[in-house]
Amino acid sequence: MRRLLLDVVDYSMAAGILFPGLCFFICDYVIYWVHRAFHTRFLFKHIHVYHHQYNAPYPWAAFAVHPIEMIANVLALFSLFFIVPIHWVPYTTIQSYNLYHTIQQHSGIDFKPSWWQLWRADVMYHDAHHMIGRVNFSLSCHVWDKIHGTMHESNRNQSSKKSKDPSIIGRSSANK
Ligand SMILES: [Zn+2]
Ligand SMILES: [Zn+2]
Repeated sequence: MRRLLLDVVDYSMAAGILFPGLCFFICDYVIYWVHRAFHTRFLFKHIHVYHHQYNAPYPWAAFAVHPIEMIANVLALFSLFFIVPIHWVPYTTIQSYNLYHTIQQHSGIDFKPSWWQLWRADVMYHDAHHMIGRVNFSLSCHVWDKIHGTMHESNRNQSSKKSKDPSIIGRSSANK
């Protein structure tokens, strides 16, 4: 069944506003869990460690991932768009935004979110993930880290709470 809409006449108001937003947040939440899964001991040691070789910010590190991780990310980002009806324009816009944001996250330039990007943290947020490993798994919406207790303490408005989940590992603990 075709869900990627190509014609504007197919495109209702609900599909125009609700579905793209819904897809963006659901995909981002799935990506959060995919990323966390890659921080379990086996997957980190054999797959995700390649991405974490880049502790210093570097834009192309966004794509420096194991092929299996790339396939998992692409499936997480794209599969929902073939289930939920969505026009190709917002579809392309969301994917371009995610791509741009992923490169920006690894740029090393401390871009601050615009006023309308209420869901976003700044670039330093993902830098902390590369440095520490056990925190800040979110791609776009840092609220997922807040909900699941994986947000770094420096991003928690002076809160000292931090992830204690032993199943999550970073580079420093992968070889123990
Ligand atoms: Zn990264
Ligand atoms: Zn990671």
